Amino acid sequence: MYQLAALTFIFVMATAAIPVQRLTPAQHARAGWEAIDAGRFREAAEAFTEALKGVTQEPTVTLGAGIAAHRLGHADTARRYLLDTLRLEPTLTVASILLGDILYQAGDIRGALQTYEQALVHAPKDEALTTRLNAWRSEAALHDKFGQKLSDHFTVLFEGPAEDALAQKAVDVLEAAYWRVGAALYTYPIEPITVVLYTREQFRDVTQSPDWAGGAYDGKIRVPVQGAMKNTREFERVLAHEFTHALVKSIAPRGVPQWLNEGLAMYFEGSDTSKQVALAAAAEPKHPLAKLEGPFSGMDKDAASVAYAQSVAAVKLLLDEAGAPAIVGVLSDLGRGLPFAEAFERNTNMSYVEFQKR
Ligand SMILES: [Zn+2]
Repeated sequence: MYQLAALTFIFVMATAAIPVQRLTPAQHARAGWEAIDAGRFREAAEAFTEALKGVTQEPTVTLGAGIAAHRLGHADTARRYLLDTLRLEPTLTVASILLGDILYQAGDIRGALQTYEQALVHAPKDEALTTRLNAWRSEAALHDKFGQKLSDHFTVLFEGPAEDALAQKAVDVLEAAYWRVGAALYTYPIEPITVVLYTREQFRDVTQSPDWAGGAYDGKIRVPVQGAMKNTREFERVLAHEFTHALVKSIAPRGVPQWLNEGLAMYFEGSDTSKQVALAAAAEPKHPLAKLEGPFSGMDKDAASVAYAQSVAAVKLLLDEAGAPAIVGVLSDLGRGLPFAEAFERNTNMSYVEFQKR
């Protein structure tokens, strides 16, 4: 018995010693790309960090590190790695595209334009670059003509003096939403949030949203304002809805299922959710919750209204059963790069599979 135990001990020691074997930077980098392909971004980030200890000037390694950081929602780190990548290899269009997107999302439209203009020098025929560049140029030109109103937490852009009163109304509504929704979700976004008030036509051109959309959030809150002064209740609802998206993004920049994001926005927009819950219960056929993890923007109006109703019903159930702190916990874990099912189970003590059945 003693001998066997001793052998086991030696075996365990030997197994434990294997990871100490050093991987080369190239092997770390390969592991990083494999982890990216498999969607394991935390593991990828760690692998690329290891690789970069051995090779600092390798664009495929800095690119991998940039992509992993981006997928984890670490925009500043991603930006740094992508700038390194383009310094080492200016022709890597994939790095330019991602860097431009990150700058645009952060509200740095000038930086985004510059990045894409430089990329076009190396890839003049790239259609994706050209299309985005044209859209951003017209957006920048439009916003240049807009007026601005600043409050503690918001920058509101609006077309002209005629909209001044409306812009002031938007500021008041948004500040109220900031404190109300912030208190409910224990979260007060620090970075100022940009809000743009458009005509219906400008809104459609800039966001390419479906006709049924009353507002959009893509790093900026964008709202069409025709008739807003006549229907202030609707204006308040849309602003509170889009602000909730901004708040969710401040906790979890990525990886939030659409049903959770939209359900929270609808719950906190301040309208009567009991109608939505009834609509969700009566709807046939229902969407499986797993099908509501991606964007609803491709749906027609009817399918979308069922999707939204089911989302708010699911969020209401989650608030009743697990409470707001658990939901904030799920979002924080997503922000740290945990997969949704794991974050869900850790914070709610329910399995995501079980919850979907209900
Ligand atoms: Zn929404």
